[in-house]
Amino acid sequence: MNKNICVFCGSRPGKDPQFATWAYALGTQIANNNQVLVFGGGGGGLMGTLAHGALDANGQVIGIIPKHLQVQEALVEHLSEVHFVKTMGERKQLMDQFADAYVIIPGGIGTLDELFDVWATAQTGFHSKPIILANWSGYYDGLLSFLHQCVENGFMSSSHFEKIQVVNSQDELYQALSHSLEKAVSAGIPT
Ligand code: AMP
Repeated sequence: MNKNICVFCGSRPGKDPQFATWAYALGTQIANNNQVLVFGGGGGGLMGTLAHGALDANGQVIGIIPKHLQVQEALVEHLSEVHFVKTMGERKQLMDQFADAYVIIPGGIGTLDELFDVWATAQTGFHSKPIILANWSGYYDGLLSFLHQCVENGFMSSSHFEKIQVVNSQDELYQALSHSLEKAVSAGIPT
């Protein structure tokens, strides 16, 4: 299935070296499934590792990066396509145009901003694309516990909470991704 998988992740590697191993494996898996990786373009941290995983497996990789960040940080070389945009907002819009599904792996402010952006637009009915949160080594446990509090306090409905799929391992991640893409295709949902 030739789908575009948009991955949000840290521009830093984080402290757990497993994250880089899993990010690389995710890139490889996307390429081996003939899917296209869409990401932020930067070569730092998990972003760079993920992109190299896909490129080393001869996958197609699309980078979308604001011009000013490219000056700050090296772009991954040999990307299949690079799109330069003016603002972070413009970048999110373009990522949305490309993406058939979103995968969020560990990251910081940028990653959280991207997660909440695609989640909020799903909540308001702008899209029905799968959003998969990879809770590797319980990295997002604290956030998820706060989000449960949001539901308990009546600021979020359970059905909106369920618009994200939380997975705890690589296998679960790959299964959730292929299952939700197949489901979207068979239901005729435009992604
Ligand atoms: P962070 O989690 O704060 O490291 O931000 C990473 C996320 O924000 C990625 O998914 C990117 O799309 C975006 N981003 C943040 N910093 C950069 C950068 N220097 N180059 C490209 N994208 C970035």
